[in-house]
This record gives sequence, structure tokens and C-alpha cells, in this order.
Amino acid sequence: MTRESSAFAGNPGTVAALRRAITAGRLPHAYVFSGPPQIGKSTLARWLAALLLCQEPTSDPPEPCGICGACRRIAQGTHPDVQTFSLARQAASTDRVAASRELGIDTIREIVREIDLLPFEADRKVYIIEDADALTDEAANGLLKTLEEPPSYATILLLATEDRRLPETIRSRCTLLRLQPVSTTEIEGLLQASSDLPQEALARIALLSLGRPGWALQAAADSKLLVEHDTHVDALVAALTGGATARLGLAEKMAKRWSDGHRAEIYTTLYDWLGFWRYVMLHVIGNAPVGLYPQHESTVDQLAANGVETPARAATRTLEAISHLDANVSARMAIETLLLDLP
Ligand SMILES: [Zn+2]
Repeated sequence: MTRESSAFAGNPGTVAALRRAITAGRLPHAYVFSGPPQIGKSTLARWLAALLLCQEPTSDPPEPCGICGACRRIAQGTHPDVQTFSLARQAASTDRVAASRELGIDTIREIVREIDLLPFEADRKVYIIEDADALTDEAANGLLKTLEEPPSYATILLLATEDRRLPETIRSRCTLLRLQPVSTTEIEGLLQASSDLPQEALARIALLSLGRPGWALQAAADSKLLVEHDTHVDALVAALTGGATARLGLAEKMAKRWSDGHRAEIYTTLYDWLGFWRYVMLHVIGNAPVGLYPQHESTVDQLAANGVETPARAATRTLEAISHLDANVSARMAIETLLLDLP
């Protein structure tokens, strides 16, 4: 039988703290897991749910068995006592446009109503709330009482890209765990265990992942992701070498994709650009891995020629553009400002 439980990579301190809390019988009733997209928040949440509900967990160290019925159904997302709420689930159950951007009061009411029902088959229940930083104020307020006094059998896990965007009232009622990027070596090991791609390909994916195991595993399984990554960086380099007209043209194109609803694609593009600037910085300090962007070596040389300040500033600007998009600034304005400001 194959193990269905999802392996969780990196963040050993965080995992150890969760294990200690369970062993001591002192698991807090509500957590916030925060960190960039695809760093492992959902995987960690499912791992913890499996550890709590597994029928035969190992004890040293505590680990879900990965093969019992509970472990398998948690991995498949079909365990009745582990419920996941997210923007995607909410959008699928309603036709309101706002449902894809904000986690609303109706979703929270569903949680508050259901959490009082005793577990169906396990002796515990786990509620996973993805996209928690998209809770409306009304929804956040609706959750406060449940966070304060959940039933003794319930654990609530809120997942957020940016925990600082959660209302203080929510944060103060939860234990915060911030997930850190996973080392390139560790991600490479994870890929080797799960992919037949040649060693060089896996090494490149590990480097491009910027410490996000979720992205790396997806890129190794689906070559489309790497092709898209290269397309995003190619577009950036073309804009850098193409002057104001090329930059405004690219900004317009991206703003249109954004307003057509392809928000995740625009975020991914900006994260890919961030990776490119990080690579230029590594190049400046003579620490850049070989062959990451073979098609852009001369541009990288030029951008690295005047020291680390140029790429560091570009990376900061890119992060600013991401937080402007988060804050609902006009996408066109945010991307135009970024592109016109790049070297
Ligand atoms: Zn199990």
C-alpha cells in the first residue's frame, strides 16, 4: 500500500513545536499558519489533521501512519471530520463575483453552525480556513466567539499569505506559526524522491522554487509550469531592454489579464520576476548557480555590473507591486509604476 499522507518539508522547529503540543496534550485550539503561496501551509494543515485523527500514529517522533483509512481520506480531502474552507470552495457554491476575492460571512456562518455538531467518526474535528487574509471584517467578527471558545474536540487552522493583514482580534486568539522558505538542498531531495526527471532539471526547479516546495513539486510534475516561468522572465527581460513603450505595453497586457480574472497568473508572474532579481543579486556576489537563465546571460551581466543595489531595488519594487495588488490598488497603476521604475 502506498503512503497517502503528504510529506511536509522544511520548518523542523515548527513541526517539533506541534508534536510537543500534541504529546503534552496541550495543542492550542486555533492556529494561524502564514507564509508565501505554495510554501506548505495546506500540507502542514493536512499533516496536523492526520496526526490528530490517525488510527495508528507512530510515537517517536509522533507521525501519522499514512496508510489507515483516516490518513488516506484526509490526503484525498474526503474525511468528514476535516473540513477545508477557501475562496475556491466559496466561489463554487455561489455565483457572486465577490466570492472569489473575499471570504464572506456566509462561509463563516457555515463553520460556526457545523462546528457544534459532534465528530462523525473520529474523536476530533479539524477546520482548515484557507485564504484567511481575505476574510471580510464582518466574517472575521463572526468567527471571534468560535475562536475564543471552540468545542473541546475542535482545532481551527487559519492559513494566510500575510498574517499582518489579519485583524488583531483574530491574531490575538490564535497561535501564530510563520513558515520559512525551505532550503534548496531539501527541496532537491524532495524532488528526487518523487520525480524521474534528470538531476540537472531537478536542480534548476529547486533553485527556481525560491524555497516553495509546493511550487517545486508542481513544476516537476507538469512541465507547463517551467515553460510559463520562462515566458514570464522573457517578457520582463524584453521590457527591460525595450524602453518605455515596451514597458507600458506589457503593463497594459498584464492589467487586462488581471481584470479578466487571471489574478493568480499575475501574482505568479511577479514572484517569477522576484526570483530573477534574486538571481541577479547572487550573480553580483559571485554565488549564482550556473544555467538558471541561459538565454539571458548578457542581460544578467549588465544588470549585475553596478553592484547589488540595482537588483535589490528592483526586488523591493516588485514586492511593493505585489502588496499594492493585495491592497486593491489599480492593477494597471501598480504594474506600470513597477515597470517604469525598473533599471
Ligand atoms: Zn493513519
